Amino acid sequence: MYQEFKSHLTVELASIKEAGLFKNERLIASPQGVDIMVDGKHLFNFCANNYLGLANHPALIEAAKTAMDERGYGMSSVRFICGTQDRHKELEKAIAHYFGTEDTILYAACFDANGGLFEPLLTEEDAVISDALNHASIIDGVRLCKAQRFRYANADMVDLEEQLKKAQSCRFRLIVTDGVFSMDGNVCPLDKIYELANRYNAMIMVDESHSAGVVGKTGRGVTELYQLRGKIEIITGTLGKAFGGAVGGFTTGKKEIIDMLRQRSRPYLFSNSLPPMVVAAAIETFAIVDKTNDLQDKLHRNTDYFREKMLAAGFDIKPTQSAICAVMLYDAKLSQDFAAKLHEEGIYVTGFYYPVVPKGEARIRVQISAAHEQEHLDKCINAFIKIGKALKIIQ
Ligand SMILES: *Cc1c(COP(=O)(O)O)cnc(C)c1O
Repeated sequence: MYQEFKSHLTVELASIKEAGLFKNERLIASPQGVDIMVDGKHLFNFCANNYLGLANHPALIEAAKTAMDERGYGMSSVRFICGTQDRHKELEKAIAHYFGTEDTILYAACFDANGGLFEPLLTEEDAVISDALNHASIIDGVRLCKAQRFRYANADMVDLEEQLKKAQSCRFRLIVTDGVFSMDGNVCPLDKIYELANRYNAMIMVDESHSAGVVGKTGRGVTELYQLRGKIEIITGTLGKAFGGAVGGFTTGKKEIIDMLRQRSRPYLFSNSLPPMVVAAAIETFAIVDKTNDLQDKLHRNTDYFREKMLAAGFDIKPTQSAICAVMLYDAKLSQDFAAKLHEEGIYVTGFYYPVVPKGEARIRVQISAAHEQEHLDKCINAFIKIGKALKIIQ
C-alpha cells in the first residue's frame, strides 16, 4: 500500500511547493527574545507572540527550576486520576482572579480548551453563532459538537443579528468570538455583541489568546476594554503567548460551566496534566502582571510609538487596539520580497498572503512586545522606511 500512498503524498507536497505555500521552519539557536540567532544570523524579532516579554524572564525560569527540584518533572497522569498538585489549583485560582471569573480549568493548550469546550455543553437542540475569522481550534471544537452552526462575517454586527434571529428557535444560543483576530489585529466589538446577546437571549464565549495581557488598561483583555468583567459566560486563553509563551491553555468563566467541563471535556479527561515547572512559572507570571502594570504600560507605549511612526511614514496599517500591526502591501510577491529585505536589514517578520489572508490583501504582520526597547523599534521602523522607499511603497 505504502508505495501508492507515497506517490500520492509526493504529488500533493509538490503542488503545495508549486503554489508557493510550503512552510519551512527557521532554526533559532538562542532563547526566545528580541535579539535572536536565526540560521546563524542575529535578528531583532518582530513576529513572536511574546507580548509582555516574559518568554525568557529570569523570575519565570527561577520558578520553573525551583518547581522541578521540589515537585519533579512530569505528572504521568491526567488531572482526575493522580495528576493534580495543589499548584494546579493555585494557578486555576490565579487565572480566575485575573479575569474576574468564578473558576478555571487548565488544558495542555488553548487548542485543547477550544477543542473540548462545545461538545460537553451543547447538543443538537442548541446553536453556536461563530465569527467567520475565528481561530482554527474554535472551528474544530465547534465541528465536534452537534449544535446547529451559524456563521457571521468578521465583527459584522448586522450579520450577527441576522444569525441570532435565525437561531431563535434553538434551546440555548452561544455567540463565539476571538478577542483579537490574529491577521488584522482588530478587537472584537464585545460591547455590541453583549448588547445583541441580551436582546436575543444568548451567551458569549471569547477566546482571549491574543488579547489577554495586551488589550485593556491593565491587559486583562477585551472584557476589561469594554468594562464587561464578570459578565461573559466563557473565556478561553493560552499560556503560550503573553503569559510566558511555554505551553498550556485554560477555560475560565461561570462555575457550573467549569464544573461540567471537568466531568465531560475530553482533552481534560484523556490528556496529560501540565508539568509542575510550567504551572509554577505560570503562577509567577500572574503574580507579576497582578503586582505591577509596568509591562502592560510599556507594551502600550511601544505599540503606539510604532504605529504613529509607521503611519507618519505613509504606511497603510490596519486600525487596531492590539499589539498586532498589519502593514498592508496587498500584493503577495511584494509581501515576500519586502520580508526578505527586512531580514537582510536584521528584522525578523513574516509576510502573509492568500490563503492565510484574503486574496489581494497580502501584508507583513508586525508584533510588538514589551521586550522591545526604543532602539529596536527605531531599527525596525527605519528598515521599513528604507525598503518602502526603495520599492516605491512610500515616498
Ligand atoms: C494561539 C491561539 C490558540 C492556540 O493556543 P495554544 O495554547 O498554542 O494551543 C487558540 N486560539 C487563538 C485565538 C489563538 O490565537
